[in-house]
Amino acid sequence: MTTASQAAATAAAGQKDGNAEAGTKWVYRFGAGRAEGDASMKNLLGGKGANLAEMSNLGLPVPPGFTITTEVCAYYYANGRRYPDGLVDAVNDALAEIGRQVGRTFADPKNPLLVSVRSGARASMPGMMDTVLNLGLADDTVKGLAALSGDARFAYDSYRRFIQMYSDVVLGVEHHVFEEILEAYKEQKDYFLDTEMKAEDWRAVIDQYKAAVEKALGKPFPQDPHEQLWGAIGAVFGSWRNERAETYRRLHNIPESWGTAVNVQAMVFGNMGETSATGVAFTRDPSTGEKAYYGEFLVNAQGEDVVAGIRTPQALTRRARLRAGEEAPSMEEAMPEAYAELAAIFDKLEKHYRDMQDIEFTVQEGKLWMLQTRTGKRTAKAALRIAVDLAKEGLISEEEAVMRVDPRSLDQLLHPSLDPDAPRDLLVKGLPASPGAASGEVVFSADEAERLAQEGRKVVLFRVETSPEDIHGMHAAVGVVTARGGMTSHAAVVARGMGRPCVCGAGDLRIDEKAGTFAVNGRIVKKGETVTIDGAAGAVYAGAVATVQPELSGDFAELMQWADRARRMKVRANAETPQDAETARGFGAEGIGLCRTEHMFFDADRIVAVREMILAEDRPGREAALAKLLPMQRADFEALFKVMRGLPVTIRLLDPPLHEFLPHSDAEIDEVAKASGMDAAKLKTRAQKLKEFNPMLGHRGCRLGISYPEIYEMQVRAILEAAVNVAKATGERATPEIMIPLVAMREELAVLKKRIETVAEAVFAEAGTRLDYLVGTMIELPRAALAADAIAEEAAFFSFGTNDLTQTTFGLSRDDSASFLPEYLRQNILARDPFVTLDREGVGALIEIAAEKGRKARPDIKLGICGEHGGDPDSIAFVEGVGLDYVSCSPYRTPIARLAAAQASLSKSAR
Ligand code: PEP
Ligand code: MG
Repeated sequence: MTTASQAAATAAAGQKDGNAEAGTKWVYRFGAGRAEGDASMKNLLGGKGANLAEMSNLGLPVPPGFTITTEVCAYYYANGRRYPDGLVDAVNDALAEIGRQVGRTFADPKNPLLVSVRSGARASMPGMMDTVLNLGLADDTVKGLAALSGDARFAYDSYRRFIQMYSDVVLGVEHHVFEEILEAYKEQKDYFLDTEMKAEDWRAVIDQYKAAVEKALGKPFPQDPHEQLWGAIGAVFGSWRNERAETYRRLHNIPESWGTAVNVQAMVFGNMGETSATGVAFTRDPSTGEKAYYGEFLVNAQGEDVVAGIRTPQALTRRARLRAGEEAPSMEEAMPEAYAELAAIFDKLEKHYRDMQDIEFTVQEGKLWMLQTRTGKRTAKAALRIAVDLAKEGLISEEEAVMRVDPRSLDQLLHPSLDPDAPRDLLVKGLPASPGAASGEVVFSADEAERLAQEGRKVVLFRVETSPEDIHGMHAAVGVVTARGGMTSHAAVVARGMGRPCVCGAGDLRIDEKAGTFAVNGRIVKKGETVTIDGAAGAVYAGAVATVQPELSGDFAELMQWADRARRMKVRANAETPQDAETARGFGAEGIGLCRTEHMFFDADRIVAVREMILAEDRPGREAALAKLLPMQRADFEALFKVMRGLPVTIRLLDPPLHEFLPHSDAEIDEVAKASGMDAAKLKTRAQKLKEFNPMLGHRGCRLGISYPEIYEMQVRAILEAAVNVAKATGERATPEIMIPLVAMREELAVLKKRIETVAEAVFAEAGTRLDYLVGTMIELPRAALAADAIAEEAAFFSFGTNDLTQTTFGLSRDDSASFLPEYLRQNILARDPFVTLDREGVGALIEIAAEKGRKARPDIKLGICGEHGGDPDSIAFVEGVGLDYVSCSPYRTPIARLAAAQASLSKSAR
């Protein structure tokens, strides 16, 4: 080390500090068949460092090197960006050890050791400084490299790559500065390819590169390898807190305290001629999961050439080359020996790690070197196939296979998605409310959606927000877009239930329904124009973007069977139509956890009778209207019970604020007037009177049942008559679970339960038969959770309605929060949208209290969850901990819930 760089490094090392524990080991070595670390030390060595150590221990050919630990990173930030005492010496010792192993010396002009410097956090983290290769090259050492290799062109090519990379990632001189110099030089020389550049050409370019750096920074490119090394180490640690890395950490919930490690490793060269190469590979196909080596390589190249896409890489195997119809030989054909060794290592690594691996390698003059291995990222389809195959190969157990697949990724498999290769033109982004992709004509009203769909046209329904009145249009549309509303807004909940793609809360949309247009970011889109919606990404595109259909393979069914074996909680679905119930059954639902009866009231042939009922002036008027609705509701429930063949069905009595059903236009009022014989003007006044300032906290839920007993009486009669009829007709005895919404007090439930029992006795007496039924309640209000012991005296079951419970616990409107929640997430005030992932601290605490109090008062009380959280894996893990009996979610999420519930059981029993 020169005196100057020694001084710099010593200054960087700083003074002794209370945080530095005496004797802390800051540097871990690897190489030559052994290592000081291993794969279990990811927290300390980072993913890359731990796996390099593990590969060394396995006796694989790993160039020797060392890892500076994540503890150094933590120290660095805790101590004003200084390094701990002893680090410089430890690094120098480790460098000397590498030198001994490869027979070279760092910074020796005659026989220089060159190294790579790479970052390596616990989890792979894009956004951080990645790699500097060929470090140690300078004006003097490059001559040594030229002499040693006998290849001056190679030496100067390596040097110019180093200057370019180091200047870019460490010194902050942008890449294009160097690209422009090189392009100009080639043009002047009339060269087309880099391979035409000779040693003296590279030398000339290097002079220009160095001049450019000096001009940009006001000081020359560092010539001291030690200074270069500490510069690179500092750049890795510095990049831990750059903006991109911070954004990535926030998005992926990676704590800042983790820090990154730095890996320094002897260089091996893939650019030493035709017997050298560099490549990347997966031990199985990461997009299909097929058991076939997958990857690419480049002859006579260094790592960044593969990624940069300047040259077209060649296939790894002959089979892959033939499949792709390529001419250039595969590695299997061009370098059979190195390939055979590589293939043997693939198998060894897979067996060792018991998972598909993502690998980087280099061949230097025929000799294979391993530079990285890690668990490979994969598509949902590949994840399923690989998990099932590995279990069948005996490498992992069926339970492990169940744990290997991310339940969220199943969404990709259950819905069509955009063709990843198709070009697209983004119109607007919103919330990814319901997955799936589809194209259709823009329409602005539910009626129009229905009309066009009946003509066989595909439409996408655009609304400012949706209400229950839009349900028929949502059903008719291939996708739904709203300008307002969050993840549990009406549009989101209903679309998910139907399996319709939906983007909601797209705040940049300006919908002008009258003009038949919407404006977005300076563009105007008219009714009838085609758009494409991607509900999984929350995006809307102009024109038709090609989609691909999901394929549910045998692997899916097999893994789900294994999951079902491991699962404790039951999985039910939220469904009201026989069609949705059928879908849910197909996806393995074991009952219906929530049938929202109001959704059954909006068909065109019913809405008038419903309006008649609401607007009736007195009980006889209401009863007349209800008598029209009774047979329709009974038929609905019969159909539902038939589909569910004896499985439990929870039916919730009418819940939403009555004004949602009110007629708006004069034509609608006239229609009701005609059906009921009431005066239109009177009807209008009554409709106005029913309007509320705060309907979510107004006349809704059980409050409706309290003030209009005959509504619930009609519904209970319809439910029980249907159950009796189906039992008589099919022999399948359903056990209806009658559920009362928005209960706050025991007394509410007591009053309503008594009325239910009276109706039930009447129905059974008329039918001459009885059947079992349960009466229970939703827990949707903090008071209900806190008074759950009293409420349980009247309730055979609780179903946590966590949409409303979240809304009422936070005092946060589920329909309006989309306009300000994103800011809460951005500022890290909230880590997750509480309408998507259950807030454990607040809402979760209420659930725990309610479950405990409920069980104390009624030990056999049945407990479930039917808010949207019932289909969210993280929330499912939480309610497994509370010991709920079942989760209920929209039909298309049933497989996700089955897998998540299995994982929750397995993780709990492993603890
Ligand atoms: C709930 O509040 O969680 C619930 C399931 O009911 P809804 O979404 O219909 O209000
Ligand atoms: Mg609710």
